[in-house]
This record gives sequence, structure tokens and C-alpha cells, in this order.
Amino acid sequence: MQTYTEQGILDILKEIPDPEIPVISIVDLGVIRKINITNNGVDIDITPTYSGCPAMKQMEDDIISALKQKGIENINLKMVYTPAWTTDWLSTDAKERLRKYGIAPPQESTTDKSFITGKTKEIKCPRCGSLHTEMVSQFGSTACKALYKCKDCLEPFDYFKCI
Ligand SMILES: [Zn+2]
Repeated sequence: MQTYTEQGILDILKEIPDPEIPVISIVDLGVIRKINITNNGVDIDITPTYSGCPAMKQMEDDIISALKQKGIENINLKMVYTPAWTTDWLSTDAKERLRKYGIAPPQESTTDKSFITGKTKEIKCPRCGSLHTEMVSQFGSTACKALYKCKDCLEPFDYFKCI
């Protein structure tokens, strides 16, 4: 007797904020790959963002507790590693909210490997829009972000790294 739908589940998940960036939901983040209602409960496929990102465990706990609150039991979370998550899966709307929150959203293309080659590139300041910025540290407030500083407004900001 299922009393919920895949869309209904998705709507619940949309209310769950990213543990590290509260302005975007885990659905915006693009980690929810598939929701499948079965006779026994619900199967949810999740693709982790950064491998070893400590936020993943938090996300799993949040998903289970949010669904249980709605009376949904037998939740089967499955980690799916291929295709690998990329920052391209962030919704356009989520990127805009990141910027307003003060985090420079990832650049469009994941073909950019500047962090691997060691070259830095121009990252737009989320506050004033200046391209006159510099990387202060490869690691910002979390391992998923790099710390930048704007040379115009002098504000430091996080840049959500592309992968
Ligand atoms: Zn600035």
C-alpha cells in the first residue's frame, strides 16, 4: 500500500539543505540520481560529491530522518559511483544562490583542470563581480572549496571547486 509517489519523495528531499551550504538543497546539488518506489519501501540512488567528503554521511542521515518524519520506512540508500558526480549537475538556480550566499559557483566546464595543473584562473568575486582575485589557499572552509580573496573589495570568499 504505497501512499507516496516518487515526486512526493523528491519534494521531501528538496527540503533538505546541503550540510555545508544551507542555501542549496541536496536535490539542487544533483546527488539524488534515482528514486524508485518498491513493494517494500523506497530505493534511492545517490552519487557522492567529492569522494571522502564528510558531508555525505550527514546527507544520508538527513535523508533517512526526513523521510521517516513523513512516515516513510524501509528506505534503501544506494551509493552509485558511475557516472561520477560533477559540478555540472548543480542546477543553474543553485549556482545563482551560491553566488548570493558569497560562494563563487563552479565555472561551467569540468574540463577545466586548473587545480590539477596548478594553474589558477580568473574566478569572479561573488560580491562585486571583479575578476581581480587571487587564490589564498587550495582549501577553504571545507575541502570542497578553495579560499580566494578579491583584490578590489578585499573580501575573502570560497570558490566551489570544479570536478
Ligand atoms: Zn570583490
